[in-house]
Amino acid sequence: MTYKNLRWLSFLLLATLESATSLPAQALDVTVTPKRPNLGDTLAITIKPDPGEQLTQAPVVKVAGKKLPVYPIATNRWRAFLPTIPLEKHGRRSLIVTGNQRTRNMMLWIGKQWFRTQSIWLPPGKGSGTDFEFDRVDAFKAIVSPKKLWSGKFLRPNNGPLTAGYGITRIYNGDYSDPDYHRGLDYAGWGGSPVKASAAGQVRLVGYESKGFQLHGNIVGIDHGQGVNTVYLHLRDIKVKEGQMVRAGEIIGTVGSTGASTGPHLHFGLNVNGQAVDPTPWLKWGFQ
Ligand SMILES: [Zn+2]
Repeated sequence: MTYKNLRWLSFLLLATLESATSLPAQALDVTVTPKRPNLGDTLAITIKPDPGEQLTQAPVVKVAGKKLPVYPIATNRWRAFLPTIPLEKHGRRSLIVTGNQRTRNMMLWIGKQWFRTQSIWLPPGKGSGTDFEFDRVDAFKAIVSPKKLWSGKFLRPNNGPLTAGYGITRIYNGDYSDPDYHRGLDYAGWGGSPVKASAAGQVRLVGYESKGFQLHGNIVGIDHGQGVNTVYLHLRDIKVKEGQMVRAGEIIGTVGSTGASTGPHLHFGLNVNGQAVDPTPWLKWGFQ
């Protein structure tokens, strides 16, 4: 054996020892945004391997013991969304990410958010909705299509002023035992003003007040892929059909006052993994 060969062999031995005995300082690179989330926020959990490594299979992401859907967003880069809503408890959540036979244990903190309370008095029978419409909306919210169809920030769907923000606690007919929250943003556009698709996607829900959508009124739901969808309620006209692909900004209908509505306005909702989150960060900053 030559000296050169010997040197090579000892290098190999050392390299083997190194990988067998020492763990890398950071097994996986996990980034969570926003840095200080509050209830109502969408948390984006991004995972990439250490430099020089590959992460060709989707890592497993669990928050508080529950597995989240994970999607590729670039070569060697994966992302999971954690939706949060005002009805949850604020505080700590465990985050466990497993990939390349390595595990990272982290802790998330979801802060409290103060939402004002609004009392709503509905006449008997009004605003209760039908099983038919809830079943259709639930089925729409459960749609998961793996391909991401949106890019960049979501667009404001109507030019009218914002009249009700996300998360307002709503007490119906004085029943404090069963509070609900405002699951979106209200824009008071004039009746007949255009309603635009907030982002590119596929229309997967079209419902009419005359066909049982008593609460939602005339409604359009757009699937943007990867568990993200938007809904547009109380429409006057609907200009799209189920199955149709739409571009961001394309007119899908007009503002109306159908369903449980007291005047022309657009209720705009955004769901992530089936939960109605605050659309505001999606409009302001966007998610990859
Ligand atoms: Zn609303």
